[in-house]
Amino acid sequence: MTIGGIVILKKGKEISIQRFHPWIFSGAIQKLEGTVTDGCWVEVTDLKANTLGFGHYQHGSIAVRMLSFKKDKPDDTFWREKMSDALQLRKSASLPDEKTNAFRLIHGEGDGLPGLIIDYYAGALVMQAHDAGMHLDRHAISIALRDVFQDSISAIFYKSLSTLPGKMRDEARDEYLLGSSSPKKIIVENGNRFYVDWEEGQKTGFFLDQRENRKLLGAFSTNKKLLNAFCYTGGFSVYALTAGAALVHSVDSSQKAIDLTRENISLNGFDPELHQCFAADTFDFLKDKQGEYDVIVLDPPAFAKHRDARHQAVRGYQRLNVEAMRAIRPGGILFTFSCSQVVDRQLFYDTIVSAAIQAGREISVLHHLSQPADHPVSIFHPEGEYLKGLVLYVR
Ligand code: SAH
Repeated sequence: MTIGGIVILKKGKEISIQRFHPWIFSGAIQKLEGTVTDGCWVEVTDLKANTLGFGHYQHGSIAVRMLSFKKDKPDDTFWREKMSDALQLRKSASLPDEKTNAFRLIHGEGDGLPGLIIDYYAGALVMQAHDAGMHLDRHAISIALRDVFQDSISAIFYKSLSTLPGKMRDEARDEYLLGSSSPKKIIVENGNRFYVDWEEGQKTGFFLDQRENRKLLGAFSTNKKLLNAFCYTGGFSVYALTAGAALVHSVDSSQKAIDLTRENISLNGFDPELHQCFAADTFDFLKDKQGEYDVIVLDPPAFAKHRDARHQAVRGYQRLNVEAMRAIRPGGILFTFSCSQVVDRQLFYDTIVSAAIQAGREISVLHHLSQPADHPVSIFHPEGEYLKGLVLYVR
C-alpha cells in the first residue's frame, strides 16, 4: 500500500481513534505531512508520532476515514482479508442459503470500510464508492473480490456516479470491472424471485435491507387487503401475496419502479387480479382512503440526508403516518419505516407518537424493526444504524 503522508492529531484527539471510531474530523488535525491528496492513504499519529492507524484522506469535514487501527502499515493482503472477513460474517448469519442468494457483502463502517458498499446478487457484485479513496482503490478491491470469490462470480459492476463527491464525478464512470452486461438478472430472497436491474435501478438495484421485515409482513398478510406504499420493485407486495393476501395495492411515484413491480408479481406467478399498481405520490394517493386497508407498509426514501433537513423530515414522516393511520380500518396493522440516518430511533418513535395523537387512534407497538445482519453496525459507530421500523396495531 502506498502511503501518501501523515496526519498528526491534536493533543487528546487520539482517544476516539483508540476507541475505534472510524472518522477523523478536520478540526482534530494538528498538521499534515508529506503529499496528502484526496483519496490517498495516510498514516495517522498522535502528537508524539505514535502510529494510531491508517485510512483514506479526503478534504472536508470528515478528513480521514479509518481503515486499519493497527500499527503496521497495511500490505497487499489488506483488501483480500477484509473481503474474506466480511464474507465470513455473512456465512455466520447463514447468508447465502438455499432460499436466499442476494445479500450485502460490505456495509461501510459496519465492515470496517467506511465509504464502501458492495452487494452480491446471485453471482454478480455491485460496488459503490462514497469517497475518493474507495474510488481510487476500486481496481485493488476488484482483484481482492476475484481472489475471494474465485469462479463463483461472473460480474463486478462499479456504480458510483451518483454517490461520489461532486468533484470526483467528472473522472468516474459506471462500468464493469469484471464481466459485462447481461439480460435481466433474477435473485431469490426467502424463496421469492425478483428481477434486479443494477445498471438502471435505484442505488445498487434492490433494497436488501428489508429482507427480514418483508418476511415478518407475511405473518400479517393472509386474507388481508394491503397497501405497499413506496413499493420500488414490489418487495413487500410479493411477500404479502406469497402469504396469501386477498388484494395488494402497490404505489410508487416512479413509473419505472411500478413497471418492475408488475414484472416481479408475474415472475412469482401470482394471479394479476390480486394486485394493482399505482404510479402516484403516496401523499395524494392516501387522501381519500379512510379506513380502506387492513395492512399498510410505509417505506419512504430518506426524507433527510443532512442534519439541517431533519426538522422538515420529521414533519414529513408525521404527516405521512397520520394519513396512513387514517387509511387503516380499526384493528389494522401499520409497518412504518425511516431510513434517514439523522433521524434516530428515539426521534422516529416520538414522531410516530405525535402522528398517533394527531390521527386520534389508540395504538400498540408490536415490533421494533431494524436492518439485517448483512448490514452490520460497528459498536463504536452507532450512527450506522439507519433503518428503523415499527409494527403497530391501530385500533
Ligand atoms: N420498499 C421498497 C424500497 C423503497 S425505496 C423495497 O422494499 O424495495 C423508496 C421508493 O419511494 C422509491 O422507489 C421512490 O421512487 C419512491 N418514492 C419517492 N417519493 C415518493 C412519493 N412521494 N410517493 C410515492 N413514491 C415515492
